[in-house]
Amino acid sequence: MAKIVSGNYSDEYVFESRYKIAEQSEQNPRTVQEAQEGYRNLAKKNIAMLQKPGRASGMRYFDRIMESPDIRMKDLSEFKQKGGKVVGVFCVQVPEELILAAGALPIRLECGFIGNMSASEEAMPTNVCPMCRSSLGGAIRKTNPFFGICDVIVVPTTCDCKKKMAEILANYANVWPLELPNNRDHLEARDYWLGQVSVFAKKLEKLTGNKISVSGLQGSIRKLQARTSVFRQFLDMRKQKKIVISGRDSLLVAQSAMIDDAGRWTNAVSDLNRELIQMLQQEKTVFPENTPRLMMTGSPMAWPSWKVINIIEESDAVVIAEDSCTGTEYLYNPAEVADWSMKGMMSGVADKYLLPTICPVFVHSDDRIDSILERKELFHAEGIIYHLLRLCQCIDMEYSKVNAVLKSKGIPALRIETEYGEEDVGQIKTRIEAFVEMVEARRK
Ligand code: SF4
Ligand code: SF4
Repeated sequence: MAKIVSGNYSDEYVFESRYKIAEQSEQNPRTVQEAQEGYRNLAKKNIAMLQKPGRASGMRYFDRIMESPDIRMKDLSEFKQKGGKVVGVFCVQVPEELILAAGALPIRLECGFIGNMSASEEAMPTNVCPMCRSSLGGAIRKTNPFFGICDVIVVPTTCDCKKKMAEILANYANVWPLELPNNRDHLEARDYWLGQVSVFAKKLEKLTGNKISVSGLQGSIRKLQARTSVFRQFLDMRKQKKIVISGRDSLLVAQSAMIDDAGRWTNAVSDLNRELIQMLQQEKTVFPENTPRLMMTGSPMAWPSWKVINIIEESDAVVIAEDSCTGTEYLYNPAEVADWSMKGMMSGVADKYLLPTICPVFVHSDDRIDSILERKELFHAEGIIYHLLRLCQCIDMEYSKVNAVLKSKGIPALRIETEYGEEDVGQIKTRIEAFVEMVEARRK
């Protein structure tokens, strides 16, 4: 009988399995090529749909970043040739400040593409969340080139699906889990998390061979604070009655930050903000002022699977706000540092990724409801689209309470449950059009 081996509880803890899935089946080169082309075509199609009259010219920068992974891959390849390390991340709990301070570059890896999903079937069942299937399939089929360039992939222990995906992914890549507390709302959780973040910092130092210094960490915190600051200014533009930026452009801006260089992205958003302010002053808008304003909440909307937001904004409504971890939530919160010592900074960084989060995995649904209600007011949203990826259980299980609260406050809500395929486009479009009409009718 095999000896039961306990974990190795040290900084050296790695996510190695003693048993492996059999060597992955060779991917058919033609299937890989078709999937890669399909991914690029879908990205191009999304970008083409965004080219509307009056759109800010500063959006072209973000189009280029998202249309093809080539630009960022070139940067990362050059960085690696000089000995740099690339750290792939999932979800919104991986402290990017530490990755940057250790001299490495972070890259976010969630991928929403139906053409990846069949590749995950050799390792994962089909009745799990499509984003995990697509992300794993992207790694196996190499549709997402960023997987191949990562020296390590960090997966926070969030929902059950992500946890198991991490374990499976470890058959194909070097994976570090990042252990989150189950619930953020007690003091021990905060201490525990700080401990995990400190271990993460040590592992990064070992990976890169660079010590995280006080000045290095100060620099990376300030860099990402600047990123958050320009993003918040950008969001302020969306609170205005005059609509100078669409929901899709806004999502494109947020999602490009997940792969782009933080400093370059911050400069591009700063330029865009100046242009949007001018548009506001000159009353140049991209939607008429009376366009129904909807807020999206729920499951992530990983690129390039933008089916629901595309349908909404092609149905004469605007997504004026969203709270997705693949959108606003990724960038919204800064590290708040009261004391710029190493200890103070570590604590500020750890808190950033724990305290303000609304990820339903370790936050009570009431907190998420408060956040939805607050955002609805701030952005003057008239209705809520509850976007649910099929089999995303934690988001699904919160729906009935969210819906009951919205109903009690007279806020219209529509639940859209879907996957990445196109077969339900017609049905979703009909439901969204009827919802938009209802929102408009309520004004009268
Ligand atoms: S909602 Fe939470 S667990 Fe789910 S993908 Fe987003 S950050 Fe990860
Ligand atoms: S929270 Fe939902 S969408 Fe995110 S990984 Fe888990 S099951 Fe998938």
